[in-house]
Amino acid sequence: MSVATEIAQPSSASGEPLPASLDWITRLVSMDTVSRNPNLGLIETVRDALRAHGIDATLTHGHDGRWANLFATLPAADGSTNGGIVLSGHTDVVPVDGQSWDSDPFDPEIRDGLLYGRGTCDMKGFIGTALTLVPEIQRTKLAKPVHLALSFDEEVGCAGAPLMIEELVKRGVKPDGCVVGEPTSMRPVVAHKGINAYQCCVRGLAAHSSLTPRGLNAIEYAARLICHIRDLADQFREQGPFDEYFDVPFTTAQTSTIEGGNAINTVPAECRFVFEFRNLPTLDPDAVFARVEQYARETLLPKMQREHASAAIEFKKIAAAPGLEASEQAAITQLVRALTADQDRRKVAYGTEAGLFARAGIPSVVCGPGDIQQAHKANEFVSLEQLHACDAFLRKLIRGMSVDAHAQ
Ligand SMILES: [Zn+2]
Repeated sequence: MSVATEIAQPSSASGEPLPASLDWITRLVSMDTVSRNPNLGLIETVRDALRAHGIDATLTHGHDGRWANLFATLPAADGSTNGGIVLSGHTDVVPVDGQSWDSDPFDPEIRDGLLYGRGTCDMKGFIGTALTLVPEIQRTKLAKPVHLALSFDEEVGCAGAPLMIEELVKRGVKPDGCVVGEPTSMRPVVAHKGINAYQCCVRGLAAHSSLTPRGLNAIEYAARLICHIRDLADQFREQGPFDEYFDVPFTTAQTSTIEGGNAINTVPAECRFVFEFRNLPTLDPDAVFARVEQYARETLLPKMQREHASAAIEFKKIAAAPGLEASEQAAITQLVRALTADQDRRKVAYGTEAGLFARAGIPSVVCGPGDIQQAHKANEFVSLEQLHACDAFLRKLIRGMSVDAHAQ
């Protein structure tokens, strides 16, 4: 055991030792990285801290350069950077607007063994724990490298991570597996659904509402398309395909926002709406979208064009994140199952970046501290007990990657 880990940790009011990761988590939470705000300050803080340990990080920038992903490799003892395991987390958090918090969401506070603050659970608790263990990883004679991957814009449709993964593929970095530390109460999640969101714009023609035949009512046709999406959702619910391991065991679809028209006495020329579907990972999302698009093109549009030639229905993909279906045979699945002593086939409806890593050929599993029930809400928290469990999990994982463990 190293000297650092023998130093007694300060205790919480209940007498339990405080997690060593608390410093890092506090620093991370106090940086307001709600997705709409740049995360570059946080990324540069981590980059500089890694640099102080002699570790170079690769940044991939998004938007106007004020958002970035970070990828860093802690090489194996022989200097190799091939293979190994990625510890992955997103740095953005969801907004606190309109929520009633009992303490400052960006000034984390411990009450009754729970650490409150925006992102403590989703998912700066995991990132902080991983960063705290960097010196421990460096002290370990690793047989394989450990990689750290921090992304931006996960909460707005996994928009940042693809840039980082693209860059990895370009550099030929090919890790053996990835642990995405989203809150799962430190239990392995081996599958999740895909996220697919589209904006649809239905274009008609304005006219005085007393002269409806001279216009083309965009809202009415948008409504038909929305009902078609609902019919599709009902079909999935009634006819499957099903996977009973999921909490919601079928593909879901819904329309989430809509706007159209501008006056009570005007035929609306335009209607825009956003719809999404969450597909089972075994179902091709493009085929689902094709059914919506085909109905618009072959059934609705000809009807609209008979009313007015300028009719149009346009679709724009606004978010897409592939589902995850981890193989039970994959080494990373077996490793996380062994470390958590948990064999349950847990599959969840929410999306994560694990699907993106898996699609790039990096087998991935989701496992992190905190309960997803506490994510995104007012008074978000992670328990200190979960942070200790995450610390123990990662220490075991690191030890298991050591040259000594491999020699046994
Ligand atoms: Zn998350």
